[in-house]
Amino acid sequence: MKCPRCKTKTIREIRYENFVANQCSSCNGFWLSRESLISIVETKEQKFSTSTIDKTISQSFEGVPEAEVANELDCPVCNKSMNSSNFGGDSGIIVDHCPHQHGTWFDYGELEKVQAYREYWDQSVDSNELFFSEALKDSNNTLGASVKPKYELSTLYLISIAAATIVDDFLNKLHGKS
Ligand SMILES: [Zn+2]
Ligand SMILES: [Zn+2]
Repeated sequence: MKCPRCKTKTIREIRYENFVANQCSSCNGFWLSRESLISIVETKEQKFSTSTIDKTISQSFEGVPEAEVANELDCPVCNKSMNSSNFGGDSGIIVDHCPHQHGTWFDYGELEKVQAYREYWDQSVDSNELFFSEALKDSNNTLGASVKPKYELSTLYLISIAAATIVDDFLNKLHGKS
C-alpha cells in the first residue's frame, strides 16, 4: 500500500498500543482500519498530561477548512477520493476517511491529538456525571436521526458526542443561555 500523503512511499504494518496499524516510514502518518481506530481510541491506553490536553482543546474548532477539502487524499486501498472530516465534529483534528470504509488517515501527530481529545471528553463527562446517564438514554433514542458521515468512525464515540451536546444544551437552558 502506498502512503496517501507521500504517494510513492509504502506504508508498513506496525503495532500501535497492541493494535495493528500501518505507518509511513517517511511522513510517519498512520493508516487505520475502522476496527483499529475504535480499539485505539476506546482503549485509552495512553495517558496525556494536562498541558497536552489543554493544548489540543485550545486548537479545537468546528467544520472543515476549505484548504483541507480542496486537498483531499486518495484511499490507498481503492484510490477513491477520501472525505475530510473534523473528528468528533468540533475537535479541530481534520482526518481523511475512505467513503467505502477502508480506513482513516492521520497525519503525524493527529492520532495522539484524537486520543488526548477523547481523554478530555471523558474528564468532562465525569464532571457532568449526574446528567450523563439521562443524556445517554436520550441520545440512544435520537441516534438514528443524528447519524452523519463525519461521525461514523465510532458508534460509541457518536453516542458520546450526542450525549455531550445534550448535556451542553441542558446546562445552557439551566443558565438561561438559550
Ligand atoms: Zn507518507
Ligand atoms: Zn477506499
